[in-house]
Amino acid sequence: MTIYSGVLETYRPYLDIPAHTRTVTLLEGNTPLIPLPRLAKTLGGGFELFVKFEGLNPTGSFKDRGMTVAISEAFGRGAKSVICASTGNTAASAAAYASRANMRSIVIIPAGKVAAGKLAGAVAYGAEVIQIDGSFDDALNLVVAISERHPIALVNSLNPYRLEGQKTAAFEICEVLGTSPDWLALPVGNAGNITAYWMGFKQLNDREATGLPQILGVQAEGAAPLVLGHPVEHPETVATAIRIGRPARAEQALAAAEESKGRIIAVSDGEILSMQKLLAANGVWVEPASAAGLAGLAHELEHDLINLKGKRVTAVCTGHGLKDPDIITREMAKPHVLPAEMNALEDYLVQERE
Ligand SMILES: *Cc1c(COP(=O)(O)O)cnc(C)c1O
Repeated sequence: MTIYSGVLETYRPYLDIPAHTRTVTLLEGNTPLIPLPRLAKTLGGGFELFVKFEGLNPTGSFKDRGMTVAISEAFGRGAKSVICASTGNTAASAAAYASRANMRSIVIIPAGKVAAGKLAGAVAYGAEVIQIDGSFDDALNLVVAISERHPIALVNSLNPYRLEGQKTAAFEICEVLGTSPDWLALPVGNAGNITAYWMGFKQLNDREATGLPQILGVQAEGAAPLVLGHPVEHPETVATAIRIGRPARAEQALAAAEESKGRIIAVSDGEILSMQKLLAANGVWVEPASAAGLAGLAHELEHDLINLKGKRVTAVCTGHGLKDPDIITREMAKPHVLPAEMNALEDYLVQERE
């Protein structure tokens, strides 16, 4: 029996990390690549569709892949505290891995709009949560400045070790498919993940000639600086994980899209939420941002901007639906109330069917 040991130990020879790195892991990674033939059909058919369900990582998002490496590096060099700016998932992940290593974690969140499930995670894992009266981008500027003045390790995706960990998802996809997919669709916020995937696919292709995907990066219309070509001062979208107006890795994201012969597009909140429903109707419940990649693919198909005939497509679903239950519950109809009697239940079920 091979015991799975997390992304750092599994892929260590392929990660560009310092020798002092000491593994701190929650056995992240190794997430399922789920075939969704019925959803492919709903979108017009003629192609193979897989979802890389990153919501099944230990804290519910892909952030764990990068965090295990960033925290392991910081831990190995003796750092006692870590800090990050976060729209939520980075906070929960940083807090979990810091706790694992018995380190202090500080997270700075923007005013309003951090989903409850994410904040709860950060608090449960023991983070000191500080909310600032400003945007994510303001929060990021602050943590960069403070980590330059104090011995506090910065674990946002500006930290290069985050990307080293995140690129392992590309390795896993190719291991399952045997080659790279033809297209990879994923949401883009601060643009660390698209950068990391492209690094991973290129590295593996150099080593094993697995081929390269075309990358479709997808932003939300109200937070689409990479599509507009300029920063967005007040980004707005239901997809809080990608509500970012000034992506830290903007240039690398644009380069990944261009080199891969793909592109970065924007979709509306409506498109994102209907894709979230469609995914759930196929058994995969993700948070809104995580549906953006597939929503982008659906958008391109609908407007005849992409030809997927005979292609293999992978959509990255970055975070779990449980992270943001409010999006569902606030529109939920009240449960139907019945007396606790078999007849009443039977009448109700039969009448429902008719
Ligand atoms: C962080 C995050 C994103 C955006 O990833 P970037 O690397 O910032 O582009 C998308 N979806 C979820 C669920 C996230 O947590």
